[in-house]
Amino acid sequence: MGDFSLSALADLPLDLWIGGRAAPASDGGRFDVLDPATGDVLTSVADGTVEDALACVAAAEAAAPAWAATAPRERAEVLRRAFELMTARADEIAHLISLENGKALPDARGETAYAAEFFRWYAEEAVRAAGTVMTAPSGANRIVVLQQPVGIAVLVTPWNFPAAMATRKIGPALAAGCPVILKPASDTPLTALLMARILADAGVPEGVVSVLPSRSSGKVVSAMLHDPRVRKLSFTGSTEVGRVLLKEAADQVVNCSMELGGNAPFLVFEDADLDAAVEGAMVAKMRNAGEACTAANRFYVHADVAEDFSQRLAERMSALTLGPGTDDDTQVGPLVNEEAAVKVDELVQGAVSAGARVVTGGRRPDRPGWYYEPTVVTGVPLGSEILGEEIFGPVAPVLTFTDEDDAIAMANDTEFGLVSYVYTGDLARGLRVSERLDAGMVGLNRGLVSDPAAPFGGTKQSGIGREGGHEGMLDYLESKYVAVTW
Ligand code: NAP
Repeated sequence: MGDFSLSALADLPLDLWIGGRAAPASDGGRFDVLDPATGDVLTSVADGTVEDALACVAAAEAAAPAWAATAPRERAEVLRRAFELMTARADEIAHLISLENGKALPDARGETAYAAEFFRWYAEEAVRAAGTVMTAPSGANRIVVLQQPVGIAVLVTPWNFPAAMATRKIGPALAAGCPVILKPASDTPLTALLMARILADAGVPEGVVSVLPSRSSGKVVSAMLHDPRVRKLSFTGSTEVGRVLLKEAADQVVNCSMELGGNAPFLVFEDADLDAAVEGAMVAKMRNAGEACTAANRFYVHADVAEDFSQRLAERMSALTLGPGTDDDTQVGPLVNEEAAVKVDELVQGAVSAGARVVTGGRRPDRPGWYYEPTVVTGVPLGSEILGEEIFGPVAPVLTFTDEDDAIAMANDTEFGLVSYVYTGDLARGLRVSERLDAGMVGLNRGLVSDPAAPFGGTKQSGIGREGGHEGMLDYLESKYVAVTW
């Protein structure tokens, strides 16, 4: 095992990455990156300004024609090399994610492998951007449809998957022939800056990828969205910020892909394999300590098995080891910041005041850092805030049902529609319920849906567009129709 402390990550890039070069902020500003396990300062990075943002756009504009004209096979090979470099440096990347985000190393390793897979998948997709040719119904001409890159793309990512949310956008954008400017979350800029270096080492030409950490996210993103050279916004983050950006993007009618918040229901029917349901619940709830848009947020369990399910889940949750993400035996790391820990506690205390019962956990442990105990609460009254908000922490509220229609109605009673989970031993029921759940994705007898080969995304206020799979690249392509007579 190597030394992966921050000081040992010798070539860690801490400046902006613009036009293939590291650069300080135009006004020399920097901001601190904190360690969620202690609250101490880890290091500082350059704080991008509006001037820097426009320099990124200029670099992208200079690089755009050549990148769009680069042979798809060549773009594919750059992405394939990026996959190989990420895989070779997986331990280092995982430690960096764990240091700045706080997540436990097994989660960080899982994220690193998942993140690298987007480069491999889109290396394979880059050569498959097929157009179509057909005869017009009148017979008078041909309809030729070409697929062309949409243009310069601004990518804005959250802190909960610092590597994967970046590669899930960069992979298809580069495959499609678009230059990108990545604005990572301010809590986790280090992994994004390392990604820029890896992509440069993989052969990405200057200007095709820029990375712009900034504490002035509103200003820098707005400036880019109002620059007519920018043609695409791909955002992953909260629905609240997504709404703001959709309005900003409206001014120049920028093409938008939005991956927003979730509020996933997890349904367990009386005929489910309960061992599998508990196992799936642990994955759906505890991956990243619950800090995932796909995290199971509300458990609806048939009354016949609810007590058994809650007890078993509570036993598994209470046996988890809390600690700094980078410690080898840690299974649950701290939450990302103080605000997150306070919010989770408020939701739990609100549910308890409304009559819920704590089966396990239910408090912030008495130690430095932003930890929350893995928690199971039962008897949560309908209408409680904890059922309407993304918890984003290791807390499982369990409710009961007796009727399939009621379970579906409760599951759909949210403005979100990212993912739902269903456990049942009856496949016909599973498919019937899956069809009626208003969500972009369903885990049927599975607690994990994320897969680079599948279209990830939500309905309702969980977003617009899909990332991953074949669909993911279409978000970076425009169809151009040529009417041809020959
Ligand atoms: P967030 O507060 O919405 O921030 C996301 C990104 O937007 C960050 O880079 C942030 O920068 C930036 N930002 C904030 N305000 C902005 C503004 N006014 N203009 C432009 N950019 C702005 O979300 P988060 O707390 O980082 O992430 C958690 C959220 O992401 C949850 O709601 C989760 O469900 C969602 N998420 C969704 C998916 C999905 O695929 N659907 C995946 C992962 C996470 P700063 O950090 O500098 O504020």
